[in-house]
This record gives sequence, structure tokens and C-alpha cells, in this order.
Amino acid sequence: MTIKVAINGYGTIGKRVAYAVSRQDDMKLAGVVKHSPDFEARMAVERGFDVYVSDSERIIKFEKAGIKVKGTKEDLFGKADVVVDATPEGIAEENKKKIYAPKKLNAIFEGGEEHSIAGTSFVAQANYAEALGQKYIRCVSCNTTGVVRILNALDKSFKVKRANVFLARRATDPHEIKKGPINAIVPDPVHVPSHHGPDAQTILKDMKISTMAIKVPTTLMHLHAFNVQVDKKVHAKDVIDALKQTPRVLLLHSEDGIHSTAGVTEYARELGRYRNDLYENAVWEDSIATDGNDIYLYQAIHQEADVVPENIDAIRAMFQLEKDAMKSIRKTDKSLGIKTP
Ligand code: NAD
Repeated sequence: MTIKVAINGYGTIGKRVAYAVSRQDDMKLAGVVKHSPDFEARMAVERGFDVYVSDSERIIKFEKAGIKVKGTKEDLFGKADVVVDATPEGIAEENKKKIYAPKKLNAIFEGGEEHSIAGTSFVAQANYAEALGQKYIRCVSCNTTGVVRILNALDKSFKVKRANVFLARRATDPHEIKKGPINAIVPDPVHVPSHHGPDAQTILKDMKISTMAIKVPTTLMHLHAFNVQVDKKVHAKDVIDALKQTPRVLLLHSEDGIHSTAGVTEYARELGRYRNDLYENAVWEDSIATDGNDIYLYQAIHQEADVVPENIDAIRAMFQLEKDAMKSIRKTDKSLGIKTP
């Protein structure tokens, strides 16, 4: 079976998921919905993607800009089995109410939306089975995805008793010029805990997770600091061994010249993937330390990329194209050049 996938919102996440869908042999990109007749729309057409507009009044704007469109989003949705809604935060809720639900169309939502939009929040290696056959699935945010991958792995090996995670969040994405801060460090939010802990608990339901977050003036990546208490005394080597067996986790070393998110970004560029995307959590192996039952580590998260393979696995789970999580993860990873342990 080949699943026809429509992408609604061809921005940071949407264009990456479109690329990833186009790499799968059990999915077909039915088309993408563009809002503005910009270079991204033009390049999508050049890449051979069918471009549709978000509303009929916009067709004229695209025509004036010389960008060939195939129709409106309604035309596209009529041909699709599922929509990946990667519109800016808040729009998807309306789309679900006014379009997807009345049309009985399956949909994947992104992390800017609330858990309630789908009722199933998703990170493949943690709860693939829960998503099998669901009509709606929400892929959690870049930060939550990064946090869940680590905590799920530590829980499987050592049984997590409680986790404290401190998140230094990038201010915005590299292309963005209107958001800040540019000269401040912002507790985000000021009240503790941040929403990331409860969000991770929509997947790791019984785990005690507490998070604090700040926003910093950088666009490259997020940085997370973990302190996790587990059920038994643990050695750093055991943690390293466990993470080496965890999909979508990459162990890097400061001795290798990687001292910061800038270094991780440069490493990702050297990998030579499309858009230099780093889909994996980048954990500093030499940051992994233990003290009795406590585990400490640092990781970097490429916010534009880590949720992309999760969207592919979510589609596969939704249509039960593959019932086994690891088989889906391996298939997705191979298509994107990720090494799976
Ligand atoms: P974005 O602003 O980069 O892209 C959104 C795209 O949707 C833009 O191209 C915009 O023109 C288009 N758009 C706006 N209104 C539209 C409409 N009514 N119909 C169709 N298209 C419309 O946003 P993004 O960063 O890709 O975020 C999308 C979702 O992914 C959000 O839920 C966000 O929270 C989540 N997310 C973002 C990141 C990240 O780091 N950027 C990471 C993980 C998850």
C-alpha cells in the first residue's frame, strides 16, 4: 500500500517532512500547500512537488509571481490519505474542526498544538504501538522529542525514578528576523516547571519529570542538561552502552573539537545531509557522569530536524504499514541517512 501524503504549511518543518516523505517507498507526496508565493514555493515546483494554495484568493498572487499551482488545498486534500499539518501554532485546531474532521481525513499534527488535538502524542521509540491505527497523531515538539528519546532509553535500562531537565532554547530559527531575544537571557516561562515536563508525560505517562527552560540569543540548536535519578546505582559506562543502543541518539566528544552547539552544527554540515539536518539527539559522551543513582548529561537538539523522522514513523503507525516500531524506525532512518544501532 502507498499512502498519499499532503503537507499543509510548507515552512521549516513542512518542507523537511515533504522531503522525507518523498524518500519513502510506502508513501507518495501528493502535494504541498503554500501560503505565500515566495522562493520556497518556486523551488518546490522546481523540485517536482505539486504546489497548492491555502485559499483560492491567493491563486492570482501565485500566477502574478509566475508560480504554477495545481489548485487549492481542498483540491489536494481530496487526493490525500493523510495531511501533515505543519502550519504555525494554533491554525491546525481550526483546520481539524473545519476541514479534516468533516472530510474524515486523517491528520498528523505538530508540537505547537495541544495534546488534546489528537489525543495521541508520539515519539516512535517510546510509544509507536499506541499510535497504531489512530486517525490523529501529534508529533511532539523538538524539545519534547529530544527529552523523551533520552528518558525512555534510561527508563528501559535503569528504571527512572525522577528526571530534572534544564533546557536552553534557541531564540528562533535561522531564517527568522522578527523574534528575539538578541541581547538577553529569558526565563521561558518564568514560572516553574516549564511545559516540557508535562508534555513529555503525555508519552512517558508514569514518569516524574520536571523541566525548567530559558531562551537564549542563538538560532542553531537547543541545549539540554539532564539530571536523572534511577532505581539502582549506575556507572557512566552502563549509560554510554545504553545510549549506544538507542535509535536517533548520536554520541559526540568534546575531545573531538565539539565544544558547543556551533561545533555540533559544523559536525552536521560535515555529514553532508540535505539541509545539513541532524535528526539525532547529539549527546556529549564525555558529559555522561554518574553519582550513585544519579545520571548527568548534556545534549544538543537541532530543532528544525529531530521531529522529521518521527512524522514518517507516525504516518506508518497510523496506517499500520509496519506494526513493529524498530522496523519502521530502521526503514525511516535508512531513507534519511541515519545510522540505526
Ligand atoms: P513556519 O512558520 O516555519 O512554517 C509554517 C508555514 O505555514 C509557513 O510557510 C507559512 O507561510 C505557512 N502558513 C501560514 N498560514 C498558513 C495557512 N493558513 N495555511 C497553510 N500554510 C500556512 O513554522 P514551523 O516552525 O515549521 O512550525 C510548524 C509547526 O511545527 C508548529 O506547530 C511548531 O510548533 C512545530 N515545530 C516547529 C519546530 C521548529 O523548530 N521550527 C520544531 C518542532 C516542531
